[in-house]
Amino acid sequence: MIINKNVELDFPFPECGHKRKFKLKDLEKNPSYICESCKKIINVEGRKFVKNLENTMNNAENVLKNTIKNLNRK
Ligand SMILES: [Zn+2]
Repeated sequence: MIINKNVELDFPFPECGHKRKFKLKDLEKNPSYICESCKKIINVEGRKFVKNLENTMNNAENVLKNTIKNLNRK
């Protein structure tokens, strides 16, 4: 499954809860962000996150396929 990397996520900074929007494609490119509120730098590990997301989406796709397969059998 191909993920739309232009999707924006509302991501709260762990230190202060200040929310910022990230695009998946930006997360992949730039793993570090400065919080606009408390100026702390966080490391998002974007590449790992996107990879995990892709795995999760692939799993979801398989679950869906199996569910549909089971429905057809009835
Ligand atoms: Zn902050």
